[in-house]
Amino acid sequence: MPLASEDALLWVVMARRTKIIATMGPSTQDPEVVRAMVAAGMDVARLNFSHGTADDHRQMAEWIRTAADAEGRSVGILQDIQGPKLRLGTFPEGPHRLTRGETVEVISSEVAADGAVPIVYDGLLRDVALGHRIILADGLVRLRVTDVGDDRLHAEVELSGIVSDRKGVAFPDSDLDTPTITEKDEADLVVGREIGVDYVAVSFVRGAADLERVREIAGDVPLIAKIELASGYERLDEILSVADGAMVARGDLGVQYPIQRIPAIQEDILQRTNRAALLSITATEMLETMTHAPRPTRAEVTDVTNAVRNGTDAVMLSGETAVGDYPVRVVEVMAIICEEADLAPSPMRVDFLSQVPTFASATAKAAVQVVEDLGLHTIVAFTESGTTARLLSKYRPEASVIAFTPEPGVFHRMALYRGVKPLMFDRRDTTDLMLAAAEKQLEKYGLAEKDEVVVMVAGIPPNQQASTNLLKLHVIGERARRGTRRFGASD
Ligand code: PEP
Repeated sequence: MPLASEDALLWVVMARRTKIIATMGPSTQDPEVVRAMVAAGMDVARLNFSHGTADDHRQMAEWIRTAADAEGRSVGILQDIQGPKLRLGTFPEGPHRLTRGETVEVISSEVAADGAVPIVYDGLLRDVALGHRIILADGLVRLRVTDVGDDRLHAEVELSGIVSDRKGVAFPDSDLDTPTITEKDEADLVVGREIGVDYVAVSFVRGAADLERVREIAGDVPLIAKIELASGYERLDEILSVADGAMVARGDLGVQYPIQRIPAIQEDILQRTNRAALLSITATEMLETMTHAPRPTRAEVTDVTNAVRNGTDAVMLSGETAVGDYPVRVVEVMAIICEEADLAPSPMRVDFLSQVPTFASATAKAAVQVVEDLGLHTIVAFTESGTTARLLSKYRPEASVIAFTPEPGVFHRMALYRGVKPLMFDRRDTTDLMLAAAEKQLEKYGLAEKDEVVVMVAGIPPNQQASTNLLKLHVIGERARRGTRRFGASD
């Protein structure tokens, strides 16, 4: 039975609030593994378009939707487009060691020649100048340009290491003339649209215009700006003014900045993203050890916990699930770490969120205050676009947010909202019918008990695109049997 119906609901209560994104890849090429990952707590599956074919991604998306239906869960699909990631060419003679102090030649080429290091970028000699750093293999090797010749650069190796085919290259000091959205990205966005992805993550964003370009192709899918360039971080506010969320992409950020600066940058990006009422994601090397080991290090557990305490909505697994030996176990481990971290008082309370629909924001803020004042456990939101649920999430209630929506797309999208449990809900013609049906659902699935007071938030009258304008203290069972109430019997 398709999940996009109230009757197919098999929802399980989860104590965890922080959401988990897991990257799909060779280790998840099996529908049973995908289903087990969903059962273990994967909220959003990331399709990394830096790898794989369009057909691979189509197949994976089908498995994810099927697994979500089978598990009775809302699972979002995040398409991550590659962007202008520069790479080394190939080394026909195999991996090549570069030793500190030696001078190497660097050429613009698909393939190594006469010992020169090949970089696949036509603008190499134009854009890279004397003294600029060239970072190879995602930070493992560092070169500094000592001479710019007619057909090659000369560079000194500052950090030794091994380079091999197609490893990533970064030029943190150079102003490169590359479009943020490449032809490959444009084609991939069309594929994502066909698949019906729930989010697009845009790599190497440098400003608002990059996201506007993606929107032209991707339609109205929410966009997550990956903050991984110094130029992107420097324009974070401009980016947040058009994005739907931001990802702290620590892998590339750690190439752009000295790694000791990453914790403060992470905290800053998360805070500013949350204050803008947008989705915040922390990514990369969170449980890296588990790529090949059945348990994480203490430091990794602490890192995940700190990200939660920094206020992240979601944590992301990359190679751990995509190419790791334990793609299901690592999701389970991430889930229990988050569950424990979520027990701490809600971090990062935000002030009034004013850059969003203000009725919804004020109603959400009031709802969070009410559940806190009365010690209630549940807020129920009726939402067409997901905005009310997102705002409730951003005000970080201690209570659970049950978000009812009639829109299957919104149902999947809300999988990323911290502390929100999305549920499908058919439209009702009147406010009374809507509240009564919600009450039935809550009771049927054990989400609220008789006589329990829940806070309901909606835009009424229903089905008329009304702004969120209703906050109701609702006693479960009140309609059927007025009188005995646990709270406020005489209000
Ligand atoms: C990162 O750099 O941290 C990141 C998430 O991007 P990617 O995995 O695409 O390199």
